[in-house]
Amino acid sequence: MNNPKDRIQELVDLLNKYNYEYYTLDKPSVSDQEYDRLMQELMKLESMYPELILSNSPTSRVGGKVNDSFKKITHEIPLLSLSNVFTESDIITFDNRIRKENIIPKYVCELKIDGLSVSLRYKDGKLLYAATRGNGIIGEDITDNVKTIKTIPLTLTKPIDIEVRGEIYISKKTLLEINEQRRKDNLEPFKNARNLAAGSIRQLDSKIAAERHLDAFIYHLPNPMDYGINTHFEALNFMKELGFVTNPNNRLVDGIDGILSYIDEKTKLRETLPYDIDGVVIKLNNILDQMKLGSTVKYPKWATAYKFPPEEVITKLKYIIFTVGRTGQVTPNAILEPVNVMGSTISKTTLHNEDYCKEKDIRVGDYVVIIKAGDVIPRVESVKKERRIEDLPEFKMCSNCPICNTPLIKKDSNYYCPNLKCDARHIEGLIHFSSREAMNITGLGERIVEDLYNLGYVKTIVDFYHLDKYKNDLMLLEGYGEKSIQNLLDEIEKSKQNSLEKLIFALGIRHVGAKTATILARKYLDLDNLINSSEEELSDIPDIGEEISKSVYNYFQDDHNLEIINKLKELGVNTKYLGKSIDNPNIKDKSFVITGTLNIKRDDLKDKIITNGGKVIDSVSKKTDYVILGENPGSKYDKAIKLGIKILNEKEIFEMLNE
Ligand code: NAD
Repeated sequence: MNNPKDRIQELVDLLNKYNYEYYTLDKPSVSDQEYDRLMQELMKLESMYPELILSNSPTSRVGGKVNDSFKKITHEIPLLSLSNVFTESDIITFDNRIRKENIIPKYVCELKIDGLSVSLRYKDGKLLYAATRGNGIIGEDITDNVKTIKTIPLTLTKPIDIEVRGEIYISKKTLLEINEQRRKDNLEPFKNARNLAAGSIRQLDSKIAAERHLDAFIYHLPNPMDYGINTHFEALNFMKELGFVTNPNNRLVDGIDGILSYIDEKTKLRETLPYDIDGVVIKLNNILDQMKLGSTVKYPKWATAYKFPPEEVITKLKYIIFTVGRTGQVTPNAILEPVNVMGSTISKTTLHNEDYCKEKDIRVGDYVVIIKAGDVIPRVESVKKERRIEDLPEFKMCSNCPICNTPLIKKDSNYYCPNLKCDARHIEGLIHFSSREAMNITGLGERIVEDLYNLGYVKTIVDFYHLDKYKNDLMLLEGYGEKSIQNLLDEIEKSKQNSLEKLIFALGIRHVGAKTATILARKYLDLDNLINSSEEELSDIPDIGEEISKSVYNYFQDDHNLEIINKLKELGVNTKYLGKSIDNPNIKDKSFVITGTLNIKRDDLKDKIITNGGKVIDSVSKKTDYVILGENPGSKYDKAIKLGIKILNEKEIFEMLNE
């Protein structure tokens, strides 16, 4: 959906629904990462189109709602949320904004406890009431339940009037124990400790809250100057002296370096802590400086929360299907309960081969951990064996081709359908030929290729170039009008002018990806030269290993393949390399990493770099020469900064490409 007005409306509706599920029902239906991603998108759209901001936008209000079953308590000072940062550069921006106000900051870094906030009010040193954050202005009275938390003092060490704020949480161990019991009782387990803590503290029956072993850390004094306190760090110590439990990891640091090393250290500590944390909170220490910066309606400007990237996403493996590729290789694929992994919904992922499944002991019905390898391809990382409740049958590779039923043969770790006439092989090969990175024939998608194959019009790649003969027949087919058939035929004709690397890739030679195809095209310039090269010569090319050279050589020894190539030539398909500047000294032999969204399609930019003699790699290392930066860059950007790699924007890379 491109219309910003509609998208804003859609995001507001969606986020408000998620807020209700999270804060009122304590039962979120999406992950926090997905929620945060949508919120970031909405904030960006609102800053671009302020005139479209809706009055019920979740960006301008604190998330929670007040449950009518509880007595209401009005907060004298609003109980706000925190702004979020996700990367090192976000933290630098946060620090710069503070320095712009002529402040030389010291910060207090704290663990971001994954629970729910509480306000505690004392009179003459005695607990008067406790309230949830609610909507930030009005909270719910949870005094009876809070009294069951042993670490919250009912009486302070001094008989003073005071309000303090902190986080109620539940330990990882308690979550495990409670969920185990719930499973035995056939009840749905709690998704995480935060939901359990929130659900427990908002029980009308305080006996249940007592059974849940809640705990609390106190981290905020709303009006420190009333007690002669000028810094947040002093406030923490003051509250500790009064008898509250403050977190032992709180630390006063000097600037960005101190913040970053704190984050580094606590990221490692996270696993071993007895309670869940979801980030690090960074707070300006000096209270007068805090007052100078003030707050928005939703959060203070003097603090922010750095959120950890997701560690792992768990989902259920519903079943396994086997697919046949164009080389005949049969691959197991996991069909998953849809889950969000770093911003995209994943419902299917490859399980590679039998060894992969057996080594990890992957079974249908298991809960599996999904990660995105190199931020791009999702994969099943491991199995949550502790969540395997029943005896599940072990993984078993299929023994026959799922399409033509021919018994499979095993080569190394992989199984192949040896039937060269297997339909799956043909259709896959034809789809590959027309795909974007190959001959790039717009309009010749999977479904049309399947139809053309099943109707007998296209059996080999050569047949695409004879389709014009059947123009009238094709127009009679359901769903294909005259215009779309003409467009398709024009696109097919146009593809004859492609440069050699596209054709090499399109042939579907085993182990030859788009990158290798470009290397071969640049080296041989004409397909005939490649056909006549020896295996030895091929293996001498940098970046071409033994396996690839063998496969390329064998491909061109096959008469059937040569016959197809000759027919393509006769039909006028170009077999020469048309790349413009082969040796652009700005680009040649340099390695590039692309991160974020660019105006140009990522694959097109990749093509240009490769054509100019450069390399495009997936991850940043010391050896990377340049990182090309688009909008909303990922962690690669942070890594590039850390390693001091030169960053290019879109304009700069085009200048280097002489475009
Ligand atoms: P937040 O959790 O991002 O940060 C603010 C809160 O952090 C404070 O209110 C406080 O309770 C807590 N906190 C923990 N340790 C702290 C410390 N040391 N100092 C100060 N505060 C500390 O903001 P939020 O408004 O409570 O919740 C918004 C977040 O909740 C979202 O970013 C998202 O991750 C999650 N959420 C998820 C869904 C969903 O459907 N999955 C829906 C709504 C919200």
